[in-house]
Amino acid sequence: MPDLPTVRALLDDRHAALATGIAEFTAREIAPLPNPADDGAARHQARDIMARLGAAGWYRPIAEQDLRGCCLIRETLAAASPLADAVFALQALGGLPIVLAGSEELGRRWITPLLAGRAMASFAMTEPDAGSDVGAMATIARRDGPDYVLDGTKTLISNAGIADFYTVFAATDRSRGSRGLSCFVVPADAPGLRFVKPLVLSAPHPLGEIAFADCRVPATARLGAEHEGLRLGLTVLDRLRATVGAAACGMAQRALSEALAHARRRRQFGKPLAEFQLVQQKLARMATDLAAARLLVYRAAWEADRGAARVTLEAAMAKGFATEAAQRIVDDAVQILGGRGVLADHPVDRLYRSVRALRIYEGTTEIQHLVIARRLLDEAGEGEDA
Ligand SMILES: Cc1cc2nc3c(=O)[nH]c(=O)nc-3n(C[C@H](O)[C@H](O)[C@H](O)COP(=O)(O)OP(=O)(O)OC[C@H]3O[C@@H](n4cnc5c(N)ncnc54)[C@H](O)[C@@H]3O)c2cc1C
Repeated sequence: MPDLPTVRALLDDRHAALATGIAEFTAREIAPLPNPADDGAARHQARDIMARLGAAGWYRPIAEQDLRGCCLIRETLAAASPLADAVFALQALGGLPIVLAGSEELGRRWITPLLAGRAMASFAMTEPDAGSDVGAMATIARRDGPDYVLDGTKTLISNAGIADFYTVFAATDRSRGSRGLSCFVVPADAPGLRFVKPLVLSAPHPLGEIAFADCRVPATARLGAEHEGLRLGLTVLDRLRATVGAAACGMAQRALSEALAHARRRRQFGKPLAEFQLVQQKLARMATDLAAARLLVYRAAWEADRGAARVTLEAAMAKGFATEAAQRIVDDAVQILGGRGVLADHPVDRLYRSVRALRIYEGTTEIQHLVIARRLLDEAGEGEDA
């Protein structure tokens, strides 16, 4: 259960019931699931989790754009199962572009089953030569009468190979760089779309590569205006980045709990580890970092929920700080656990492997820092011009 008192001022009354509900659901249906033995098992379990979350109605905050609700859900799931968190995250990432810019027909076809846990989403932006530099995208969508024809490769795509549909970014005018991108919904079984291969992480997380060869989709599958795809993609990322920070907080909270319990239990030199001041210093730093991360995360989500036009700065601070803090917290937890902390089946070792990717996906920490610095410098420039 997330630490509600720290962020109470940023939550509405309904969020307390949501937090209790997701905590009970997670304890009952997610925490008991076995740790997947390999990538195949993780893919199978991800589909199972997708259905369970949908049957219980936990995707509703995505459609309602209740970002604090999404943060509470991700925080709780991530503490118990980073795989379950990834499943929820991808439903949001692949589904929100349709919620924001899709027709009623696309909503009926994809969002209704997504919310019920009958359709799995995926978000396909990254390419072999276009990671942080989205404008370098080489996948093209060529207009051909009433259709678009897609060609290209997407890599490092979560849910590749197990998704029912992909929200795909492609260049509709390559000469315009990042201003010439459009966004499409492509069913997984569309002719010309191929699952190339899985990419296996050290933590359970279905990831892979997909390719398009003469893949034809109707123009009605385009989300928003032509060439406005990057704007839509960045809006989605702005909104959901705080939720990545929330997942980081969930993993960090679990690591802190494991470290606290171990420090109180384990005795060395005739007394519990918890009585050594060097251990206490770690615990204090972990808890302080976590509280600060939570405040940044729920501030960004609150700003978005109250209708702020843009939350780019707040979201970048939340994601950048929370994911870096969580990495430090999980690492300190491993240190407090000593040798037990690096055993492959120990929860803190699993967290150690899972938390790392959060500093990379949906914009690396360096990109978040560039976003923050750009805003600061722009504002400083405006002040001088005035
Ligand atoms: C687990 C996982 C899941 C993912 N899921 C998805 C998904 O579902 N959909 C999707 O589209 N993508 C996904 N990605 C891809 C992810 O978004 C990219 O990995 C990320 O954007 C970084 O791109 P890159 O890996 O190509 O690294 P690069 O862009 O090559 O960056 C490498 C390093 O250089 C740094 N760097 C780059 N440019 C600059 C700069 N201007 N200034 C300073 N430093 C810079 C980066 O910060 C990084 O440290 C996933 C990645 C992972 C690890």
